[in-house]
Amino acid sequence: MSDYHNATTEQWLQWDKDHIWHPYSSMLNPVEMIPVVSAKGVRLTLADGTELIDGMSSWWSAIHGYNHPALNAAATAQLSDMSHVMFGGITHPAAATLGKRLVDLTPAALTKVFISDSGSVAVEVAIKMALQYWYSIGKQHKTRLLALRNGYHGDTFGAMATCDPVTGMHHLFNKVLPSHIFVESPRTAFGDTASDADMAAITTALKEHHQELAAVIVEPIVQGAGGMKFYSGDYLRRLRALCDEYDVLLIHDEIATGFGRTGKLFACEHAEISPDIMCLGKALTGGYLSLAATLCSDRIAEGICNGEAGVFMHGPTFMGNPLACSIANASIDLLLASDWQANIQRIESILREELSHAAPLSSVANVRCLGAIGVIELKDNVDMTSIQARFIDKGIWMRPFGKLVYTMPPYIIGDQDLTQLCRSIVAAVAEEE
Ligand SMILES: *Cc1c(COP(=O)(O)O)cnc(C)c1O
Repeated sequence: MSDYHNATTEQWLQWDKDHIWHPYSSMLNPVEMIPVVSAKGVRLTLADGTELIDGMSSWWSAIHGYNHPALNAAATAQLSDMSHVMFGGITHPAAATLGKRLVDLTPAALTKVFISDSGSVAVEVAIKMALQYWYSIGKQHKTRLLALRNGYHGDTFGAMATCDPVTGMHHLFNKVLPSHIFVESPRTAFGDTASDADMAAITTALKEHHQELAAVIVEPIVQGAGGMKFYSGDYLRRLRALCDEYDVLLIHDEIATGFGRTGKLFACEHAEISPDIMCLGKALTGGYLSLAATLCSDRIAEGICNGEAGVFMHGPTFMGNPLACSIANASIDLLLASDWQANIQRIESILREELSHAAPLSSVANVRCLGAIGVIELKDNVDMTSIQARFIDKGIWMRPFGKLVYTMPPYIIGDQDLTQLCRSIVAAVAEEE
């Protein structure tokens, strides 16, 4: 029998290698995992005591850094009341408060909230809301979705079907994935007026397919895991108008962009529009626990609830988890109590200044920044093993994918740490040439 609780680092790393799937990983040819034993502020501490500055916010989520006293206090207080109770037939102050706050923070049209466990589920819920809405009002033929190429909306089947068909490897699951309609992602840059070509592509698709379309789903302003692309708010605004014109719902997946990352509390504010349905996740709990929310308008809620089922057909076991909701409330308090807009601008200007030094490198195709997001796009795919080792060597945690070396640091990162993070990123990219 193994002594599970006194395992050496070598032992538990071996157990990990032998038995544990990691995101998008091979069990036959596993890459070396970095053993992290604690984290505080913007630093991850490895098993050997090495500290790394975190450039990833654990995939957009840990906006206040790790081990934050206010979030810890919220968790502890909620634990002593209850960590969980079922949500069917029961409610509690943490979820009710969170729902009210999300409604108050998001565009006025969004009034009803479905709280779920993860971003992918929030997207499933959004899709199901759209489909059940049309079914309920007698338009059963509106069942397809329109999505953008280079999009990413999650890994469950409904969400996966709306991800970029190529990078999402739809061909592996062709027989079971619903077939949706894809439009080229807009090329118009953030801040520019949408080009005729971009508008023509989306307009044509809507014109052709609106009768079978339930909804358009997009990540507003920033396409995240599908390519870290930033695009025009004007495009988003005109897409809203097109959806109205063709009677198609608009779903905004703000799971990555929500809670200030792009410089606005929600990315749809760059376009001054509201979707019919909005998905939130990732930074919702400040990176403490998995929690997500899907908000919708009165129109959707009324359509669904006046329909055949009379209820919305979804209800996860851990729906409205009190522990996660309490931490989410504390995380929102922290964010709103800070001068977060000025802070995101501070981060943006340092990212712009420091990462611009990568632009002249021959391996670099493009450098772009928006809010607290910095992207170095390379001409070729990174050599993951080699560049990862360089990052660790320089004392930073980064997780590039494909041609993209990108950072979205915790908002609490100081000027000095951020500068060091950026200089280390640029140095590692330069050394890889
Ligand atoms: C991460 C992400 C998701 C999926 O969220 P999970 O919590 O990983 O299921 C969906 N949409 C976007 C835009 C995301 O960035």
